[in-house]
Amino acid sequence: MSLAHGRHYLAIPGPSVMPDRVLQAMHRPAPNIYYGALADMTDAMIPDLKRVACTDGHVAIYIANGHGVWEASAANVLSPGDRMLALCTGRFGFGWAETAGRMGVEVERLDFGLQAPVDPARVEERLRNDPGHGIKVITMVQVDTATSVKSDVAAVRAAIDAAGHPALLMVDCIACLAVDEMRMDDWGADVVITASQKGLMTPPGLGFVFFNARAKARRAEVETVSMYWDWVPRSEPEMFYQYFNGTAPTHHLYGLREALSMLHEEGMENVWARHATLARTVWAAVEAWSQDGPLAFNIADPALRSHAVTTLHIGKEHGPRLRQWLTDEAGVTLGIGLGMETVEKRDSDGYFRIAHMGHVNAHMVLGVLGTIEAGMAALGIPHGKGALEAAAAVCART
Ligand SMILES: *Cc1c(COP(=O)(O)O)cnc(C)c1O
Repeated sequence: MSLAHGRHYLAIPGPSVMPDRVLQAMHRPAPNIYYGALADMTDAMIPDLKRVACTDGHVAIYIANGHGVWEASAANVLSPGDRMLALCTGRFGFGWAETAGRMGVEVERLDFGLQAPVDPARVEERLRNDPGHGIKVITMVQVDTATSVKSDVAAVRAAIDAAGHPALLMVDCIACLAVDEMRMDDWGADVVITASQKGLMTPPGLGFVFFNARAKARRAEVETVSMYWDWVPRSEPEMFYQYFNGTAPTHHLYGLREALSMLHEEGMENVWARHATLARTVWAAVEAWSQDGPLAFNIADPALRSHAVTTLHIGKEHGPRLRQWLTDEAGVTLGIGLGMETVEKRDSDGYFRIAHMGHVNAHMVLGVLGTIEAGMAALGIPHGKGALEAAAAVCART
């Protein structure tokens, strides 16, 4: 007998759970794409989108996933032969670096390993050693989804300014926009990129590039930008089709409209606070489990952990078995370990990830924790006691 019958819960870091309101908004016939309600809805959505990133700047929307907006953002501010400094805190910083490298950009990587955030002091030191200001763009990932480490965007901006360096700061917030706090304008990010399928609770397929006046000025200096990636018509469309350089992603737009309404009905501050509390709920359980047996946080310091996803080490003899048990017997799928091969020569199978991003509430998080407890008991994986009481206590205190 399996206890997995019932609504399956995909607790992986993207795609995240899609709210019924989002799904229902998408369930309708094709709209008029020439003029009328869809065009008006899209115009009205732009300010709501910018409020999620806390910016008064510009936004371009692409029919693309996160990998697509890595390329879109690079295409607008970098030309072949230009230099870029990629700050890497796990897997995703390297992905963005590789994307730009394939476009002919000269990429230098600063690697902070798999268990630490960006160190602003190292960034400042590197930039002081670039007196000719050859580095045009600095990329960083606010939350690396593989390691679950969170880096301090404002501190990196301060380091760039302290070095007196004019490079643009571009930030990948794909894992964490509308989850972890992000204040694009206040924190001095020139470009922020995200995608629809994580904190924005919408099916995969839309990518977003937010950019400020500095990035816009840089775009004006770039001689050739491919027609599809060019953010100019997308952010200042004269005709509706220019938003998307072709047919609009009609049903994604209905879904996104609903998701944005849900976020702003709750309020961004409350959205961030909910995720902070649910993350602490997960951590309280893990803290107790890890008192005995193999389970351990990848990021030891809670201040450096994302509120979107938590990466845990359990050993490769346990990780795949535990994930399989949860899927087959309890109806929950956890995230696999990703890109962790070089931490003390462990391998990614020894890791798993619990996502707590987007449309999640206390009962979903407590449910995941309860099934992990059951799975460890069923499989004879040693673990400390009191995890579920500790988790419930965090929810009770709010
Ligand atoms: C998910 C993710 C990506 C990649 O997004 P895709 O939609 O899978 O291409 C990039 N960066 C971060 C930080 C992510 O979490």
